[in-house]
Amino acid sequence: MSNPSYQKPRGFEDILPDDVGVWQEIESTVHDLYPKFGYREIRVPHIEHTELFVRSIGEATDIVEKEMFTFKKGDEQSLSLRPEITASLCRSVIENHLRKQEPFQKLYYVGPCFRYEKPQKGRLRQFHQIGVEAIGADDPLLDLETIDLFVRTLHRTGVSNFTVHLNTMGCQDCRPVYRDHLKDHIEPRLDGLCENCQDRFHRNLFRVLDCKRESCQSTLGDVPPIYEDLCAPCSDHWSAVRNRAKDLRVDVKEDPRLVRGLDYYTRTVYEMRSGDLGAQNALGGGGRYNGLMEELGGEPAGGIGFGIGVERLILARNEQEDADPETDNPLLYLVSVDEECHEEAYSLASHLRRKDFAVDLNYEDRSLKSQMRVANRSGAPLVGILGPDEIEQDEITIKTMSSGEEKRVRRDNLEDHLSSVARS
Ligand code: AMP
Repeated sequence: MSNPSYQKPRGFEDILPDDVGVWQEIESTVHDLYPKFGYREIRVPHIEHTELFVRSIGEATDIVEKEMFTFKKGDEQSLSLRPEITASLCRSVIENHLRKQEPFQKLYYVGPCFRYEKPQKGRLRQFHQIGVEAIGADDPLLDLETIDLFVRTLHRTGVSNFTVHLNTMGCQDCRPVYRDHLKDHIEPRLDGLCENCQDRFHRNLFRVLDCKRESCQSTLGDVPPIYEDLCAPCSDHWSAVRNRAKDLRVDVKEDPRLVRGLDYYTRTVYEMRSGDLGAQNALGGGGRYNGLMEELGGEPAGGIGFGIGVERLILARNEQEDADPETDNPLLYLVSVDEECHEEAYSLASHLRRKDFAVDLNYEDRSLKSQMRVANRSGAPLVGILGPDEIEQDEITIKTMSSGEEKRVRRDNLEDHLSSVARS
């Protein structure tokens, strides 16, 4: 095959018809499950003012420093493709005064995000996130509810080999105390850390804990946890979350190294990691962001949410089981002996589709033999053959593809026949 003149940019993927079924299945799980937890869908733009992300995610983060697709048109303010969705969603809640109607907002989203990262397995420049945000409450049980919903999403979409990593980041009051303790722990080990960590030590200390390199992780040794440094309200919140975490009935690991890469997190943070995905093993993560609404110009409000990476979810379910994604094959594929029969096949297909049967038919001017080949490739369990004799007798020949058996079915019995095959 010759090289195509145009190819998609690196890190961007087509989702082809053969693969789209899995996406639809996951999306319908979300649309079914999330409203049962009280979340309502929201759709926000894929582009926002750059300043929104700088303000919320934080200036000294990888996302803002290196990964945003940013552009400027004329005299207008700089714009960026969204690298995540929480900030856009908070902006929308504030701008549209949603909390005036209902102070406690539970919202969910599904959509693309964009980050200029080095593409590899599980890491793209356009990827998709499923997420929720619950804004307007501080209750630690709400933190657990979001973890529960995340876990249920994984189970319902066929992912079972994962661990929940859980930590707390404290708040503006107690985090500086911890920062100093952490600094004291890392400083003497600085020479053993990679260049990136050395840089992060000065610019964004907590991110040193995030480094994926084995050598850095062993140099860091036993990182002191934040627990002793928490202020009383953060400590109570943390106790409530960790004590109830066992009710989730999944593998929960308290992990002092979990800090998450965004500046806005306070108190609870969590990340679900797959046992099957290698380096890019985070299926998604979330946490509390009690200062974010105020930071973006809204009334102060507690908030918590998560984002799940859809591509990684799909990878994890494929890695761990021979997933049998529901296909969207037709139930019946119609082939016809000549042009006149083709018109009859078209009418029959229209009639059956109105009755909600999945039917496809051949439109190419082909021999019966090659039509049968296409029918076979379509994956339809039944093929209907229409020739002049069938039309004359008001019948259709139905071939069951699994057994090769052929039989004539009267047209007025056809719908019953299709229904019984669809049910089996
Ligand atoms: P983050 O907010 O960076 O923790 O992202 C949340 C989730 O989105 C991650 O755990 C991944 O599942 C997914 N994700 C983030 N960045 C990418 C990327 N570049 N490619 C694919 N998935 C990503």
